[in-house]
Amino acid sequence: QFPFGRRLPCDIYWHGVSFHDNDIFSGQVNKFPGMTEMVRKITLSRAVRTMQDLFPLEYNFYPRSWILPEEFPLFVDEVRVMKDSDPSWKPTFIVKPDGGCQGDGIYLIKDPSDIRLTGNIQSRPAVVQEYICKPLLVDKLKFDIRLYVLLKSLEPLEIYIAKDGLSRFCTEPYQEPTLKNLHQVFMHLTNYSLNIHSGNFIHSDNANTGSKRTFSSILCRLSSRGADVKKLWSDIISLVIKTIIALTPELKVYYQSDIPAGKPGPTCFQILGFDILLMKNLKPMLLEVNANPSMRIEHEQELSPGVFENVPSPVDEEVKVAVIRDTLRLVDPQKKKRKDIHLSCHTNLLIFPAQFQSLCAPDQPAGYCHQEGALPFGCQTLDLVSEAKEEVLEAGQEQDGGRGPEPGLPSLCLKQVFPKYAKQFSHLRLVDRVAALFIRFLGVKGTTKLGPTGFRTFIRNCKLSNSNFSMAAVDILYIDITRRWNSMGMEHRESGMCLQAFVEAFFCLAQKKYKSLPLHEQVASLIEFCEDHLAALDEKRV
Ligand code: ADP
Repeated sequence: QFPFGRRLPCDIYWHGVSFHDNDIFSGQVNKFPGMTEMVRKITLSRAVRTMQDLFPLEYNFYPRSWILPEEFPLFVDEVRVMKDSDPSWKPTFIVKPDGGCQGDGIYLIKDPSDIRLTGNIQSRPAVVQEYICKPLLVDKLKFDIRLYVLLKSLEPLEIYIAKDGLSRFCTEPYQEPTLKNLHQVFMHLTNYSLNIHSGNFIHSDNANTGSKRTFSSILCRLSSRGADVKKLWSDIISLVIKTIIALTPELKVYYQSDIPAGKPGPTCFQILGFDILLMKNLKPMLLEVNANPSMRIEHEQELSPGVFENVPSPVDEEVKVAVIRDTLRLVDPQKKKRKDIHLSCHTNLLIFPAQFQSLCAPDQPAGYCHQEGALPFGCQTLDLVSEAKEEVLEAGQEQDGGRGPEPGLPSLCLKQVFPKYAKQFSHLRLVDRVAALFIRFLGVKGTTKLGPTGFRTFIRNCKLSNSNFSMAAVDILYIDITRRWNSMGMEHRESGMCLQAFVEAFFCLAQKKYKSLPLHEQVASLIEFCEDHLAALDEKRV
């Protein structure tokens, strides 16, 4: 632990909060620049919405959402239109403050007019979302799933998913929302941090009972009821890959700004926490992504009134230790050089700051250390899960180049899903290519916004201006879109056009040029048109 940093370079830096915890010029850091910003409720909703505009059916795993305050009128209008066209539709909505966590400030409403617009909605923007009224219940309780995902690299994209996760349970039996029960958080919100305060909370001392269980124990239950858990896993893997594909364009803009190409800098990886809700029909829905998922493997227990002690939590330990262990195995810088030497002997690991402490606490009771398979239930069901994943999705290359586990270590709990299944998702990566155009014209290194000159150069080099679309019209398009995005309460540190604004302008240009096609084909055609012109230009220059 080096709370104040250290000068000598390290292989791996484990930051507690963000990429910027320390100035790093080499090695690998466990955070990507911009990830915290990207997974905030509003930014995530926007990024997914862009993908929903292009591929509505592929991105129907995220509830319909509106951004407050700016989309409040749109929210009111759309709900009215939907109610008019289907009078039997009796929706419920969930309002979530942006940047909130642990259920903080969340409430349910039946009608847009119930939104608490009084007070500080302007200063505390939020996302309002369609509430999923029919979740899958186990023991009559609503629960959600926390899955751990390793984003090992952005370019090329490499994604791993942990074979097991956590299921976090509500503590009051679920009823569909009515005006009477809307306020009952223990019935509607699955947050551990809320339910722990319920008198009904049960600390789990094994993987398949209590208020926090392993996901594999749930899968086992579902499988014994005849549910198609293979399809469920395959849907979850798709959801994770598609969500990351929605996030990568903006992450790349942040990345090039913090770690400019050609300059010394670290590479990054990050463990993300995906919160997923299963609907009654077993369709997984994305609730949110956490850039800083809790890695605690202990929980507080009240020994006597007012006296608390941290005690080990076997369920957390079973899932989380494997995630961290395998992350370190996968990013081990010595891995390629010395395949068969035990990793922990020779990797320098630097941790900032104390948040990681509980995981590495040296004073665990002797013999308590996690061993895969030590918990009988986990061992059995993990096999089931991995089998399901392997069978459902077409076989690809083994993530470790086919080699077996390192001696003395259990097999990896992290399964590679990308590039393994890249082919099935490559058509979705359009905005990535738009971001590549954006980055090319950013000009000044270290910036994330495009100036008017950069935008004009983009139009000129890609030959997008003509008699129907003059350079004056280009300037007006730039000013209109940039001004609107900059007035939406986004960060104002830099002036200019952000990626999202550029994407909107690009979609506009695509619609203008290729009128009759569906949006994703218009955009794909314009990308090809631009890439061809730029390739020709590069050739000429050479
Ligand atoms: P936070 O970051 O504050 O935990 P979440 O988006 O995870 O915010 O929401 C908190 C909880 O509310 C979730 O764990 C889930 O139980 C419930 N929830 C959130 N969104 C929905 C939704 N659209 N439909 C049903 N339940 C939801």
